[in-house]
Order: sequence, then structure tokens, then C-alpha cells
Amino acid sequence: MTRTLSVFGATGSVGASTLDLVRRNRDAWEIVALTAHSDAAGLAALAKEFRPHVAVIGDALYAGDLRKALAGEGILVAAGPDALIEAAKMGAEVTMAAIVGCAGLAPTMAAIECGKTVALANKESLVAAGALMMAAARASGATILPVDSEHNAIFQCLAGDISRVAKITLTASGGPFRTRSSDEMRVMTPDQAVAHPNWSMGAKISVDSATMMNKGLELIEAYHLFPVGLDRLDILVHPQSIIHSMVSYVDGSTLAQLGPPDMRVPIASALAWPDRMATPCAPLDLAAIGKLEFEAPDEVRFPATRLCRDAIREGGGRPAQLNAANEIAVAAFLGGKIGFLDIAALVERVMDAHAPIAPQTLHDVFTIDAQSRVQAADLISALVA
Ligand code: NAD
Ligand code: MG
Repeated sequence: MTRTLSVFGATGSVGASTLDLVRRNRDAWEIVALTAHSDAAGLAALAKEFRPHVAVIGDALYAGDLRKALAGEGILVAAGPDALIEAAKMGAEVTMAAIVGCAGLAPTMAAIECGKTVALANKESLVAAGALMMAAARASGATILPVDSEHNAIFQCLAGDISRVAKITLTASGGPFRTRSSDEMRVMTPDQAVAHPNWSMGAKISVDSATMMNKGLELIEAYHLFPVGLDRLDILVHPQSIIHSMVSYVDGSTLAQLGPPDMRVPIASALAWPDRMATPCAPLDLAAIGKLEFEAPDEVRFPATRLCRDAIREGGGRPAQLNAANEIAVAAFLGGKIGFLDIAALVERVMDAHAPIAPQTLHDVFTIDAQSRVQAADLISALVA
């Protein structure tokens, strides 16, 4: 049976892994929309291969390039943030939400409002607007299937009444600087920060993994997806990235999901759910891996997870504010403007400077997001002046 699928962020790391699975099972999927931000050539190549109804380029500056590349192909071309929302409203049976950052929020919400299945990789949208997004899913009847490997693992391990869950443990690789001192981290370059030991991912999430902000954002993500309360959400460093997360029950049982550190495994789980599909990923060879290690997270060297816990406790607009400040700080670090340790420090300074309002609407979230971006950018200007 053919199902319809849209891939938002098709040219990214998660987008590529998704389309790799589609390519191997071409007859199972009819593609409705493919989107990218600025890589018109990359999007055009994917559109020629996967024949979507529409190809959308988020940055309208590149609309001409995309139109030229797809001229005569019979594929609709659209451009700009509103076109992303329109494409989401086309209501594919499955939408892969794999745009990076809060830029994915509006199209992801539009997909949720269609009441179909949303495979959610775009964690920043859930961080910024978690309560609104979960309420929208309840109202529309949409199914949100987590693609983030930890949340996909938890989703697979959850069985029965959630009140019988004693603890959910998010595992963390610890990133490339797990064993580094603060003094060593101070001088780390963007190249060193994006060189993740286990996972191949986009630049932003790779830096988030190095600061551990990724795990903090995932804590916020888990808080919304699995309503067990913050005191039952835990983080455990597990350098091998084989156990992707665990759920412990009141009877003493702990269920874990294991797999190779390859995003095609959680993506396949979401695409096929509630069924299973084969992937080309090599099965685990635990004898070769030999041992699985665990250690407690260090919130002194990696303060980002503490900031995220604070944001959950304070609630309201805090997570949206934190997320926006982090997006600006990570971009500044990748652009060589600030140091590695400045990222979390900057997020903390933005949070200390001003308490945002509690968002009632998506518009409020975008206002908080925009204000926080300006504040973070001002602090960066002052820092580099
Ligand atoms: P990426 O940088 O490789 O790709 C991002 C995609 O989003 C690209 O297609 C890009 O064109 C598009 N995009 C970027 N900015 C945009 C904008 N302003 N408007 C419209 N489109 C825009 O990122 P990624 O690593 O694939 O991550 C995507 C999302 O999935 C992130 O939220 C990330 O946290 C999450 N995620 C990624 C992984 C991974 O292994 N890469 C794992 C778990 C979760
Ligand atoms: Mg993850």
C-alpha cells in the first residue's frame, strides 16, 4: 500500500536519511512535498528523483534558481516561509519534520493541525512551543512519532499506564568534549565541536551535543512528549551510544532500546509505525562492542542541562527564550565570533536579563523568539566589540 509523505528539511542530515529509506522502498511512498532552506541545486536533484507534487525553498532569494532547475519537470515550485506552511497544509499521511531550529515551528504546527502523522525530528519547535504543540495534536487527533533517537527509544519502551513509570533515562554520548577540562574547551574550534564521536549530524545539533545543550533540549522535548514530570526524567552519559534511552517501571523493570548509532533506525521506526521495516543498518554486534559504559553528567563543565531544567521549572516562555538564545549563540560560535564556553554563558545571560511572558499563542512564541534573538545578538556584539 502506498502512503503519502512530505519531508521538511529534505536536504539536511535527517532528510537525507529519510529519503535514503524511501529510495530503498520506492513503491511504498508517494512524495507530496520536499523542502529546503537555500540549497536550490540539492533540492532540485531530490525533486527530480522523488517527483514530489511541490518543491519549496524556504529562502525566497533562491526561488529563481529552483524554478530554473525544475523548469519543464511538472513539479510545482514555491518559495518563502508561507509556502512552507501551505505545503504542510497539503496534509500528507506522514510528515517528516526535519527542519533545524525554530524555523520549523510554523510548518510543523500546520502539519499537526492536519490531524495526520508527524514524525518529529525538529526538537526546537517542541522546545519553543511544547504545550501549544501537544494541545494542537490533541485537538486535531494528530499522532506525533518522535524521531530523535532517545525519544524514539522511550516511545518504543513505553507500555501500559504511564503512571507506572518510575523513571525515564535519556542517554547522552557526552559529545566530543566529554573528557575535556573547561580550560581545554575554552579554545575548541567549530571543526572540533562538530566532530561527533558516534553520530553524523547537521552542524547545529553537533555543537549542541558538544555543549550538552542537545541533552537539555531533549529533556524539554521529553517533558512534553512523555508527561511523567521533571523529577522522573534523568540524564545518563553513555559514551558508546548503543542504548538510546530507558524506561524504568515501579516494579523494578527497566526497558531499554538498543541499536547502532544510525538515525535510519529511529526514522524507520517512525515511518513504519506501528509496523516495522527493514533498514540497511548493520545489526548490533555486542560481542565486538564488548562493554557499555555509563557515568553521571557533569553540570559544572556542561551547565546547559541545568539551564534547560531551570527553563522547564519556570515554564512559560523560558524554553522558547533559551532555544532562541542558543540558536544565535551556536551560529556565532560556528561563525568564529565567540568561544565555545560563551555559548551556554550567553544563554544564561539572556535568561538572567529578562523573564519572558507565558505564551498563549504561536504568535507569542514568535515574539519571545525574536526578542531573545535580538538580546543574544546584542550581547554578542558587546562581547566582540
Ligand atoms: P541539517 O542542518 O543537516 O538540516 C536542516 C534542514 O533544515 C536542511 O534541509 C535545511 O535546508 C533546512 N533549514 C534550515 N534552516 C531553515 C529555515 N530557516 N527554513 C526552512 N528550512 C530550513 O540538520 P539535521 O541535523 O538534519 O537536524 C534537523 C532536525 O532534526 C534538528 O531539529 C535536529 O535537532 C533534529 N535531529 C537531528 C539528528 C541528526 O542525527 N542529524 C538527530 C536527532 C534530531
Ligand atoms: Mg537525540
